[in-house]
Amino acid sequence: MKAAVFKGAGQPLVVEDRPDPAPAERQLVVAVDYCGICGTDLHSTRDGPAMLPCESVLGHEFVGEVVELGQNLVTPWEKGDRVCALPFISCGKCEACVGGRPFECLEVGCIGLDQPGGFAEYVTTSEFNTLKLPDQLTTRDAALIEPLAVGLHAVRVGGLRAGQRVLITGAGPIGLAVALWARFMGARDVVVSEPADNRRALALSMGATAVVGVGETLSEQFADVTGGPPDVLFECVGAPGLIQQCIEIAPRRAMLVPVGVCEQPDTILPFPALIKELAIQFAIAYTRDDYETVISMLAQGRIDASPMVTGVVSLEDMPAAFEALRTPSDQCKVLTRLRA
Ligand SMILES: [Zn+2]
Ligand SMILES: [Zn+2]
Repeated sequence: MKAAVFKGAGQPLVVEDRPDPAPAERQLVVAVDYCGICGTDLHSTRDGPAMLPCESVLGHEFVGEVVELGQNLVTPWEKGDRVCALPFISCGKCEACVGGRPFECLEVGCIGLDQPGGFAEYVTTSEFNTLKLPDQLTTRDAALIEPLAVGLHAVRVGGLRAGQRVLITGAGPIGLAVALWARFMGARDVVVSEPADNRRALALSMGATAVVGVGETLSEQFADVTGGPPDVLFECVGAPGLIQQCIEIAPRRAMLVPVGVCEQPDTILPFPALIKELAIQFAIAYTRDDYETVISMLAQGRIDASPMVTGVVSLEDMPAAFEALRTPSDQCKVLTRLRA
């Protein structure tokens, strides 16, 4: 099969031939239709503690069709089933796996990180982390299930309630997904802080009720458009200093949800958070129920995340598109299309 292979920091991915995967027990092989490029992919191919070994195949936002069945399957899978999967190869037996939280499995491997990923013609999944797509859901829309599940999970763990005022920092795919769900859950105001014009426009098309800039006046900008302070703040950038900025903006007893991936030391001053009795609730990944909810809402046409997709490229063109995402541009979510 063809796969886009990581060759080291500073070098573009290389499309080359790899052996077709064979499914182990309780695994499926999926022919990939689409696989989205994620910020995590860019992070893990950059020099630093999270960098993957050379020869890794990335891609965890994949959808496709079952083409090979492993032994001892519990679910009656059939070749041709259209599927997506939580990108985890996990044990399938522990409490976390059985409870639909494979991210917490002690034996977990991540597809597209330490396990072969979806920037390839075929990918292997655990059957118990694989979900069938309903007929009403197009394969292309299904390619957004993973980032939408990240956003839903953050909104859920943040305990967002209808009528609350929400501030989201950053209008990348995750900030946009959080905006979509905050709107869906009935937030009174969904305000996205973002400097780039194209991303501000995207935020408005994905559910934001207003967009504001960044910097020291953020608190005043928020109050100007909403008439009050934010009840829930989602930090979706992951750059040092932003958690502290959210702490300073937050009113008493607000909820702060850091969702952005920050891999550098980040100093915070706890005192203002203490004085205000802030709740700080980190959010990572998703559960099986998050995936099922996203699938159901997409299939029913109750959410539309398609504005987020700003590009679709072939596997051959993907390495160049991947490198281009390292510098700010008009792109947001770029999908790799593996099959016509
Ligand atoms: Zn992702
Ligand atoms: Zn497990």
